Amino acid sequence: MDNSDVIVIGGGMGGLVSAGLLASKGFSVLVLEKEPKIGGYVTGFDRNGFYFDATGAFIAACRPGGEFYQILQELNISDQLTFLPIGKIWNIYPDLELRVYYDNPGEYIGEIKRLFPVHAQALEAYSLLTTKLGKEFIEFESAPLWKKIFLPFSFPTLFRNARKCHADILHAYFGRDNRIHMALSALPTTLPPSKLSYAFVAVLWAKVLADGVYYPKGGMLALTNALASAITDNDGKIECEKTVDKIIIKGKRATGVVLSDGTAIHSKWVIGGMNLFKAKQMLPDNKPLYGKMHRIGRYSSSLSAVLFYVALPSGCLPDNWPYFISIHTSSDPEAEHRILEEGNMGKENYLVITTPTVLDPSLAPEGQHSLKVLVHAPRADHFQKMYGTGVDMDRLKNNIFLTIKNRTGLDIHSNALFVDQATPVTLMDRTGNENGAMYGLDAACEQVGPLRPPNRTTLDNLLWVGHYTRPSHGIVGSAMAGKFAANIIQSTDKN
Ligand SMILES: Cc1cc2nc3c(=O)[nH]c(=O)nc-3n(C[C@H](O)[C@H](O)[C@H](O)COP(=O)(O)OP(=O)(O)OC[C@H]3O[C@@H](n4cnc5c(N)ncnc54)[C@H](O)[C@@H]3O)c2cc1C
Repeated sequence: MDNSDVIVIGGGMGGLVSAGLLASKGFSVLVLEKEPKIGGYVTGFDRNGFYFDATGAFIAACRPGGEFYQILQELNISDQLTFLPIGKIWNIYPDLELRVYYDNPGEYIGEIKRLFPVHAQALEAYSLLTTKLGKEFIEFESAPLWKKIFLPFSFPTLFRNARKCHADILHAYFGRDNRIHMALSALPTTLPPSKLSYAFVAVLWAKVLADGVYYPKGGMLALTNALASAITDNDGKIECEKTVDKIIIKGKRATGVVLSDGTAIHSKWVIGGMNLFKAKQMLPDNKPLYGKMHRIGRYSSSLSAVLFYVALPSGCLPDNWPYFISIHTSSDPEAEHRILEEGNMGKENYLVITTPTVLDPSLAPEGQHSLKVLVHAPRADHFQKMYGTGVDMDRLKNNIFLTIKNRTGLDIHSNALFVDQATPVTLMDRTGNENGAMYGLDAACEQVGPLRPPNRTTLDNLLWVGHYTRPSHGIVGSAMAGKFAANIIQSTDKN
């Protein structure tokens, strides 16, 4: 096969963004994807005229000026995509309901204050600190080395709070009032407040409150298709159904890859855009990817999810149905997380219902709806032990649909035209993610910022991107990792 400047292993968000940026700067790029389709988690599928997103539901920072928008602009594809604002979100708890208006950040805080008037002052202080920390953390990520070295002076709020978990701050500001803890913890992570990095919460807070959250018109697949065009329009190549088995290392330098059929392909640079934990098997002689501080063995992957894809006929959605609804059936997120970590799926669940057709009716036959239910779940190996026979999946589905009916009034069971499903095992098999990890490495206190695996590895010309690396997980985090890797290659090859 032809040699390229850059081989990218895996066509997920991180891989596609790095490939697109490098192709647009004149590098010859080859993306090798093991599946028939690119996108990794960010993909979608059609069933009987209904479109479904396979996994994700929203994207932040995609308004002009946002960091994701800037990447799309650099790729020259921002005009191809329309981002629909997700204005209204319902968060439902056992004894509390929060209607969040993301298109007006002031209203979000206002709504929490209305529900918790005794905490009004503490909320102001929490909001101030969180905004300040978020801004400092975002600035820190791209600060010059000298500024990072003088951390206590350059970033005093970050310095004081870098290792704190969200629970430390919630307790400091709101005491033991578990209801407000929950109201401030509806975040895209599988971690409870005692494990979740406060700095990560602050970054999300700064981005989401400043910018809102969005859904790409045409579904998540529209985003992946636009990224693919940024690669191929610049003479980059994408080859699907090509599994990379080995990374070729000569001395200390990556010089190409070997496919599962034994074909060797050489390149000047290799970018790994896939499960970091698999790197060990891909490197010769157990060569480590990182030094002691970022030894892969010290990290843990996130929990997984079960997904139900539901087609609904017209007329069965309750009035004012929003795009996004989350339901916590437990008032103890710590216990809920412990149960999932132990490999069980209790009666208590955390689920998220998204209905893209509320924002983009073209995704289903006229008047009808496609809806996705995401339920936090144990890792694939545990899940397989528990649900391997498939018998209990029906019980789980019925339990989830009953919860939705009781808490929202939507009767999926009686109305659905059809229901499809994916499990942690499906997620693992389709993307190679560790045990179907939703977020690669979650934002635990010991897995954020400089503690996260860097994009530059200890092997020359081998970089790593995606949600196991810096800066963080999620669509934007993985895309940013792709941008960081593209910057490293550009700046190295210029010198
Ligand atoms: C259910 C769910 C809901 C989510 N919701 C959201 C959301 O609403 N918003 C958000 O921002 N994020 C969300 N995320 C997280 C987000 O989708 C991911 O963090 C992000 O997309 C990961 O991108 P990545 O670059 O790490 O690549 P991945 O998506 O992990 O893709 C890796 C790619 O590499 C390929 N590959 C693996 N091994 C090989 C090999 N040996 N050779 C060749 N190819 C290989 C895989 O097939 C895959 O295509 C969600 C995730 C899940 C699972």
